Amino acid sequence: MAIRKLRVEGDSMLRKKSREVEKIDGRLLELLNDMLETMYENDGVGLAAVQVGILRRIVVINIGEGPIKLINPVIVEKTGSQIFTEGCLSVPDKNGDVERPEKVVVKYMDENGENQTVAGEGLMAVCLSHELDHLNGILFIDKVIEEDINE
Ligand code: ZN
Repeated sequence: MAIRKLRVEGDSMLRKKSREVEKIDGRLLELLNDMLETMYENDGVGLAAVQVGILRRIVVINIGEGPIKLINPVIVEKTGSQIFTEGCLSVPDKNGDVERPEKVVVKYMDENGENQTVAGEGLMAVCLSHELDHLNGILFIDKVIEEDINE
C-alpha cells in the first residue's frame, strides 16, 4: 500500500468527469487500498479516485463504522434535506454549509464484483453525496449556501 498525492483545488483534473470501471483487476484493488490509506493519513472520511489523479468512478468512505469501497456508485433514491458544514481534502482550509439529502440510497459494485446497496442517513448521506459529486467534477464549494446576514 502507498499514500498517494492529493490533488487540490485549482487542479483542472478535479473538474473532469470520471469514467466507469469496466474490469476489477489487481491494479484497481491496489488503488482502493491506497485510497483508504491516503484518506486515513489525511484524517478524511471519504475520498474519490479523482482526488488522487485517477479518473475512475471509485469512492472510499469510513465515517467510523468501517471502510466501504464503492465502484461505479449511483444514487438511486434521495429523501429529505439537511444542512451540514463540509470540508474536503482537496479544498484545504475551507469549510461551508451545504444542503444535502437527509437520506440517500446508493447502488454500487464491491471489490468482488458483487452488486451492493447502501442506505446512508445524516453524515453518511452527506459523505456519499459529496464523494459522488467528485465523480462528476463537482466540489462542495460550488454548493455552499451564502451566509444570511442578520440585521
Ligand atoms: Zn471532497
